[in-house]
Amino acid sequence: MSHLLKPYKIDKKKLTDLIDELCKEYRVIAPIRDGKKILFEEVKSGKDAMLGREALLHFTNSQKSPKELFFPQCDCLFSYEGKGSDLKLKEPEAPDKKTVMFGMRPCDARSVEMLDRVFLQEGREDPNYKRRRDNTIILTIGCTKPGSTCFCTSMNGGPFSVEGGDAIFTDIGDSFVVEAHTIKGKDLLGEQLSVEADDESLKKAAEIRLKASDLIKSKVNAKHASEKPMLELFKSPIWDTVHEKCLGCGVCTFFCPTCSCFDVVDEKTADGGDRIRIWDPCTFPLYTKQASGFNPRPTGKERIRQRMLHKVKYTTTSYGEMSCVGCGRCVLNCPVNLDIRQVINTLAGGSGA
Ligand code: SF4
Ligand code: SF4
Repeated sequence: MSHLLKPYKIDKKKLTDLIDELCKEYRVIAPIRDGKKILFEEVKSGKDAMLGREALLHFTNSQKSPKELFFPQCDCLFSYEGKGSDLKLKEPEAPDKKTVMFGMRPCDARSVEMLDRVFLQEGREDPNYKRRRDNTIILTIGCTKPGSTCFCTSMNGGPFSVEGGDAIFTDIGDSFVVEAHTIKGKDLLGEQLSVEADDESLKKAAEIRLKASDLIKSKVNAKHASEKPMLELFKSPIWDTVHEKCLGCGVCTFFCPTCSCFDVVDEKTADGGDRIRIWDPCTFPLYTKQASGFNPRPTGKERIRQRMLHKVKYTTTSYGEMSCVGCGRCVLNCPVNLDIRQVINTLAGGSGA
């Protein structure tokens, strides 16, 4: 077993074979190209994944975050049949195959740890989330070409951070150095890979990792902002104006890998129904509207303040860490360019990103 402690190496030409092998035993999710977009989807073979070879090896990040794998946009919590007290409940079926999530970016893997804090709280584990999480092995690919809107290094992460993932691939040219950092990752790599990384490859990988952080040019003074007193942040005059251009469309929360808010609705049929959990953005007016008609966040000002301070301050107070990984998706996709980096820097007492 000693070789399991050493990193492996895999030739890029052998990735197809690796994914073929994984597909025999696991459900494999990998980045594929769909027009101009990169999406994470199930692939049935290495060829499937390699059709998106360009995507698999040279993408900045997927348009949507891969959080859907664990926390789908619509999730049936249970179904029921019958009426009144004569109800039969049916739990969702457990997935039969283990899943390998291949090619997640390190920022998104970190975001899974943040979702864990919400859905795997001791004694209050969410069964649907837990089942999917336990059933999944996350293989990340470190970022050698980060995007211009990536700011993970300002959010306690980095292009090769390992939190949340089970093993990480480092692109060293013709091949990858592959290192496991959990038991799940070690077991999987031990099953699938056999070539140990030589010293020269390890040296190259270490140099690439070191250089990658310097490629992140977008800097945000998040630490300073998060250390400011709660009341000072809450009462900041920035909230009087920053919301003005927000359309309340919810795009920023839908794309965000760490946003975890949801609503629960019943969809009824003639003889039963489904209880469904659906994503619900805090930028929507209905999110906090109460049955009486009162809304404690009646305007965009309160709603944008909630979104921003939740990321920067509230989770820092609750969990000791901000709930933004700096993936840049909200920056890229907001139709009116409301940029969280500028908001954080202004809160910190500086200017834009
Ligand atoms: S994406 Fe932009 S416009 Fe839409 S809710 Fe978020 S901040 Fe507002
Ligand atoms: S708030 Fe924006 S940058 Fe931060 S994790 Fe969410 S989408 Fe990414």
